[in-house]
Order: sequence, then structure tokens, then C-alpha cells
Amino acid sequence: MIKKLIPDYVYKTIYDIPLDKLYSDGIRLILTDLDNTLISYAEELPTKKLIEWKQKVEEAGFEFILVSNSRKVRVDKFAKAFNITYQKFSTKPLKRGIKRAIKKLTSKHYEKDQILLIGDQLMTDILGAKRCKIKAGLIFPVDKSTDVKSTRLNRKMEQFFLNRIKKKMPDIYNEKLKEFDEI
Ligand SMILES: [Mg+2]
Repeated sequence: MIKKLIPDYVYKTIYDIPLDKLYSDGIRLILTDLDNTLISYAEELPTKKLIEWKQKVEEAGFEFILVSNSRKVRVDKFAKAFNITYQKFSTKPLKRGIKRAIKKLTSKHYEKDQILLIGDQLMTDILGAKRCKIKAGLIFPVDKSTDVKSTRLNRKMEQFFLNRIKKKMPDIYNEKLKEFDEI
């Protein structure tokens, strides 16, 4: 179980993602979480910086799709303003929503090793990606203090597993998760 919580990549913010490197690693499709990955729970719409970054992602040759667990209207509003294809109520870490996004929402077929899912939670985003056997990128939450109730519960579980990883796999913890754990 804890192996499925280890991300392949870790970035402080989405703006730190080295797009050229990902492309040379063979990634072509990026699935992204919304809340506390792209914007905090306190925000509703994409910022200018975020819109410019999305343009860079697409110009770099990636297809970019939003996969959110939220079923709220804010996801529709955000996706419309961000002009992005999206799957809401995706039930991560279950495979259902992620698989639907990969199979039904993309413009073409991608192999699993060409797909990266980025998100700010181990228990939903990273575990969901690993269950689907695609790559997982952990992003530090935009603003943890805005986490909604369900996310705060997930964070408690996340903390339990971070402690286990620290104990059982100290090298991997230090390399990939220590900084995330300490914020
Ligand atoms: Mg999130």
C-alpha cells in the first residue's frame, strides 16, 4: 500500500514543473487536480499567470485535462474560464474517473507511461494515479489552510502514511516527501 503513495515527481508549485524534461521523459498527457493544485479552495477562477502557464503547457506539446473530485458548480465555472476539458466528481483514488478521462476525454490514445497525474494529495491524486499505473506528480498545496472538511480528513490519513513511509522507507521519504511533510 505505501508504495502506491510514492510520487514519481514532486514540485512545489505547478510553475516549477520542468515541461521540457517531462516531454523528454515521454509524457504527453497531463491530468491535473483542481483544488489546492491549480488554485486554492478560496479562489474561483484561474489567474492570468495560470492561463499563461496553460498556454505554455499546450505549446510544449502536452494535452492537458482537469480531473477533479469535486462535484460543485465551481468546477464547471473554473473549467469554462480556463477553457479546459474536464472530468468532475472523479472519485480519486478510485480508477473510474481517471480512466474515463483517459479513454473518453482525450483527443487520441495515450500509453500509460505517457500519462502524468498531478495533484496535492497522496490519498487521492497519487494513490489514484498509481492504481491506474500512470505517473504521479505531487504538488505542494497552494494554501492548505483553505482545505475543505473532506480534504482535512484525507490529510489526517495522509499524515498517518507519511509517518509510516518515514519509518519504513527513510531514504525515499527524505528524497521525495520530507519537504512536503514539513509544510
Ligand atoms: Mg486537491
